[in-house]
Amino acid sequence: MRTPGIHHVTAIGSDPSRNLEFYTKTLGLRLVKQSVNQDDVGVYHLFYGDEQGSPGTSMTFFPYVDASPGQVGTGQVSTVAFLIPDSAVDYWVDRLAAEGVDAAAPEERFGDTVIAFEDPDGLPLELVAVDDVPEGHPPEGPVPDEHAIRGFHSVALSLASADETAGLLQTMGFEATESEHDRQRFESDGDLGYVVDLLEDPHAPRGRPGAGTVHHVAFQVDEAEQEAWRDVLIEAGLRPTEIIDRKWFKSVYAREHAGVLFEFATKSPGYTVDEELEALGERLVLPEWLEDRREEIEANLPELRPAD
Ligand code: ZN
Repeated sequence: MRTPGIHHVTAIGSDPSRNLEFYTKTLGLRLVKQSVNQDDVGVYHLFYGDEQGSPGTSMTFFPYVDASPGQVGTGQVSTVAFLIPDSAVDYWVDRLAAEGVDAAAPEERFGDTVIAFEDPDGLPLELVAVDDVPEGHPPEGPVPDEHAIRGFHSVALSLASADETAGLLQTMGFEATESEHDRQRFESDGDLGYVVDLLEDPHAPRGRPGAGTVHHVAFQVDEAEQEAWRDVLIEAGLRPTEIIDRKWFKSVYAREHAGVLFEFATKSPGYTVDEELEALGERLVLPEWLEDRREEIEANLPELRPAD
């Protein structure tokens, strides 16, 4: 069994309207699902992605209005990187500046150009420009198709010690490829989100959850293999959850040895299972087991102002 790569990444934010504006207007992703945190229904769960929120494109947020800032550090995904075509570097440098985003000057890493910046809550993000990117399904929006974010390139994990996590990634089908300084790269065979970098620093501060930090990273698995993935995780010394129905995918969660929360999510049925493609993200969608509480849930959610 081998995961082709990242399915989605879920992070914690604060102001939901500001989050919506940044990911749709500044980065040009589509809001593909507007729901609630199934474990805390007073908080939105906002899903962004390509036109249909394909696996490998979906960045999701729990925006807690009053969230305190977290600390990015060890035991967390410390950077989320999106894939862009290498012809789009100048476009994005200009675009981020025009949108008031304080981005670092482009740098080279393993032969690719990387632009680093943060979202409005301080979540570390990168655009990684690669010469051979899939065409993908860019959404309608402010970014022309040829420059659009295609989905994820990678996540970087900050770790006090990388050995056990490296072993787990290899069990999951990733192969060690390049390394430089404190960065070890692992790659799988998917088109999107196929890279995981391990950043080892025993002296780095421990991560603390809060706004601007990643909650978990999910990897793609086949539904027929999900139970077998649980066995693999147990054999690796982890304690996976049962399979949980998240409506748009089924999930198993396991905290890996260094403290990073991993999820193993099915590619199907996807975000169009309960909404038409054209109408994705336009209204609050609840799984059927929460539908009879809709009035109460809607009354307790903050206003979500559409990006202009
Ligand atoms: Zn998830």
